[in-house]
Amino acid sequence: MPVKNRFAELLPEITAWRRDFHQHPELLFDVHRTAGKVADLCRSFGCDEVVEGIGRTGVVAVIKGRSDNKGRVIGLRADMDALPIIEQTGVPYASQTPGKMHACGHDGHTAMLLGAAKYLAETRNFDGTVVCIFQPAEEGGGGGREMVKDGMLSRWGVQEVYGMHNMPGIPVGHFAIRPGAMMAAADQFEIVVTGKGGHAAKPHDCVDTTVVSAHIIVALQTIASRNVDPLKQVVVSVCTVETDSTAHNVIPQVVKMKGTVRTMDPKVQDFVEARIGQIVEGTALALGARAEVHYQRGYPVTINTPENTDFAAEVARKVSGHVDTDTPPLMGAEDFSFMLNERPGAYIFMGNGDTAMVHHPAYNFDDAAIPFGSSWYAEMAETRMPAA
Ligand SMILES: [Zn+2]
Ligand SMILES: [Zn+2]
Repeated sequence: MPVKNRFAELLPEITAWRRDFHQHPELLFDVHRTAGKVADLCRSFGCDEVVEGIGRTGVVAVIKGRSDNKGRVIGLRADMDALPIIEQTGVPYASQTPGKMHACGHDGHTAMLLGAAKYLAETRNFDGTVVCIFQPAEEGGGGGREMVKDGMLSRWGVQEVYGMHNMPGIPVGHFAIRPGAMMAAADQFEIVVTGKGGHAAKPHDCVDTTVVSAHIIVALQTIASRNVDPLKQVVVSVCTVETDSTAHNVIPQVVKMKGTVRTMDPKVQDFVEARIGQIVEGTALALGARAEVHYQRGYPVTINTPENTDFAAEVARKVSGHVDTDTPPLMGAEDFSFMLNERPGAYIFMGNGDTAMVHHPAYNFDDAAIPFGSSWYAEMAETRMPAA
């Protein structure tokens, strides 16, 4: 079965919503206009319940099927926030707010789920309940985590959750997924090295924090190369190095470094966190300095449950006929992981064609993908909860 015909009819309307969101990008939890429009549209579709302010600015829209014999409830999730990027697409519906841009296609995700909500509220051809989840702050703010903390999953009895992300490089109309780890955990760390500053010509009177930091940076690379099983994925990157000296002849007193850790396995994540502490403190001690590590956990690993992954792939196959079920995992992170930590479910990539990568100023969501995305969401409900 191809895309649902109804979405061919709804395409101009869904595209108009998408382009309106694109012109009015909002960051993190500050998605008031977007969330307001989402809630208004869901009410206009006749959704049974529309609640705003979940996880600060998230929206939940509940649609009941024609029957509810088995008490099934599935959650379909889209994200609403944009990025602090200066848009360079040149499209007529480009961002009207300089410095903010929908460069990750969340405008498309929100519009496609709205399209599915409109169709599902019209047809109700399923046995159970669909909970449409529109989350804020995917791009670093943990909006998914906040909605979970707010009790969203238990409040509406959500049993399974499904999410989707567009992906440049995959043809429009194609899907890609894998069971198990799909996206990485992303943590961040800050290291502060304290020594004894002084005259650069008298290093023997100083404890040179730049030399200590250089040893730490190199030693941290042994985590990936010497400590972690080569078959397990791990990234440890030191990304900023800052000293309190601006002169060519002053040894700094303090050096601060910041970086990121990406892992695919919670055991590796625990190990890396502990190992960074040992390496930093041990190296500083050996070279006569002091060092502290501030390690902060970010989004956890996005893990697709095998059974739900098979189901999401089967639905994608129905919709498009093209599904890669062994797509490589990405070392980027996704805060839908907080929902997948609480409930079984799956996260799937949908092709966005040959465009610039997400987070690039020339990235552009391809509206030709809308019928595939909306059909996938709607078909998830109808196939997972077939009408009696
Ligand atoms: Zn993004
Ligand atoms: Zn995104």
